[in-house]
Amino acid sequence: MAKLINVSFRLPYKLTVTKSRLSVTPSVGGLATALRSYFELASHGEFDSLHWVGISDISRTVFERASTLHLVEKDNVVMHPVFLPTQAKERFYDGFCNSIIWPLFQYFPSFVIYKQEFFDEYVRANELLAAQIQEIFEPGDTVWVHDYHWMLLPELVRGRIESAKIGFFLHIPFPSFELFRMLPKAWGERIARGLAGADVIGFQTADFASYYVDSLRRILPGITFQDDVLTVNGRSSVVKEFPISIDFEKYHAIAASRQIRSAVTKIRHRLTAHKLILSVDRLDYTKAIFSRLESFELFLEKNPDMREKVSYLLLLVPSRETILKYKENKQNVDALISRINGLYGTIGWTPIVYMYKSVDQKRLVSLYAAADIALVVPARDGMNLVAKEYVASRPDGDGVLILSDTAGAAEELREAVLVNSNDRQEIADSIREGLKMPKAEQRRRMARMQEHVREHGVLAWATEFLESVDQMSGLIKTTT
Ligand code: UDP
Repeated sequence: MAKLINVSFRLPYKLTVTKSRLSVTPSVGGLATALRSYFELASHGEFDSLHWVGISDISRTVFERASTLHLVEKDNVVMHPVFLPTQAKERFYDGFCNSIIWPLFQYFPSFVIYKQEFFDEYVRANELLAAQIQEIFEPGDTVWVHDYHWMLLPELVRGRIESAKIGFFLHIPFPSFELFRMLPKAWGERIARGLAGADVIGFQTADFASYYVDSLRRILPGITFQDDVLTVNGRSSVVKEFPISIDFEKYHAIAASRQIRSAVTKIRHRLTAHKLILSVDRLDYTKAIFSRLESFELFLEKNPDMREKVSYLLLLVPSRETILKYKENKQNVDALISRINGLYGTIGWTPIVYMYKSVDQKRLVSLYAAADIALVVPARDGMNLVAKEYVASRPDGDGVLILSDTAGAAEELREAVLVNSNDRQEIADSIREGLKMPKAEQRRRMARMQEHVREHGVLAWATEFLESVDQMSGLIKTTT
């Protein structure tokens, strides 16, 4: 009876308690969305059951008042919520994860707040999870650790269970050594070694994998790396890219359904302008919302003939609202939208239609299906699933994707109109080019991108990753 034990910051379902009743609802976000698709699609290969370890949204006291069990089961996923006291969670999550690793790994080094107590809490949280994993682990189980919250876990779990099959996947970029070395030496060493405890260390792109190996080489003496195999102190791991993806067929089918087609007609009818540009992002400084708003403004300024003919629909999902940099960013974005709308808007036309909320999958697909252009121009992104979802949601095969060359997705979606997210002139020109692009050209580009996303879906991603973990740990066992 082998289990797949997934570990991520959040559980795939949100726990809430109302009137002493525990309710469990799917959570939003790239990872949860992608892995839920995997679970829905896969027959789960060699695994008999799926377990998930992550931090609980609610406190232990509230949880225990509503449930007498230590775990929660939903849709055949057994969840093991781990409880962190409020201050510990703040230092670990808002602190080390989102005020140190997040900005540093995404090339915003000046946003980093270096505090030793943040790192200490990061170590404690990782140790707590390692203990929880040890409690539920049985021989033959596989532990799949996700993302920057748990970079010490592979080594910690290996220390407790020598023979465990362990995979680690980093969803965000790994930076070049010039940035990585900005971390205090002891922290950097712990992180680099921490990851090396896994049998497979996966990244979104080949560049990120090579940056990790380069950093490790400079930190630890005597490592070797050949043909994707890293050897540290006689122990080997695979280090390579496994670009994450989506359930193409699901998006494609939703977009082609009668319900969505009629929703698209309604959206287009409500907008007075003929053309629709769409952006969908968490409100995060790495998404460079400011730069793209200024690019849209530049487009309006330089193309008076296009005014009143195009609307820009900006769906921003609230994110990490307790962190100062996020609050500042929100205020700046709000002010800029007001200024542009005030300057160019007319009685019958609002240039930027702004929604600050999260919408469900069907609504999202109706927006993708209605948009002539998806403007996906983050400053930096590990992958960017929105770009792939837009491609999948175009059953007629038209539509233009404008994509930053610094998003991981740009490594795969080469037929997008690729831009530099800081180049407002280039983005403004690309918007014009996209609006004028002949249908035949749109379809040629879209067909190639659809083919790629269809062939490299989330099921293939998870299957390849887990097979690689299995092979690697088998190899280690037979050679030792
Ligand atoms: N998303 C959603 N509802 C929304 C907006 C976005 O469910 O209102 C989902 C979207 O479908 C995508 C994810 O949020 O799967 C965002 O993932 P992405 O990789 O683009 O960026 P991240 O937020 O992980 O940085």
